[in-house]
Amino acid sequence: MTDDGDTRETDASATPDDSGDDPTVPIRCSACDTTTRVPLSDLAASIDRHNENRHDGEELAEVDPGVADSLADLVARDLGLLEDG
Ligand SMILES: [Zn+2]
Repeated sequence: MTDDGDTRETDASATPDDSGDDPTVPIRCSACDTTTRVPLSDLAASIDRHNENRHDGEELAEVDPGVADSLADLVARDLGLLEDG
């Protein structure tokens, strides 16, 4: 079940050895029944693009609920919100 119909949207992945600073996040679309990994820095734009291109602007794609928590964690840490002391 690897229905990767969205692969052509990940066009800017021309940086092979630079996966240190930009974790990928799975975007899940219940309407398309697909999960697509996108760079965190491109997350909002990718969701937007998918919904715009595939669903006429309807907000169907979203961050995979399973990682939404850890994502919030990650972002919070990135912003320095989790610094103890
Ligand atoms: Zn979709």
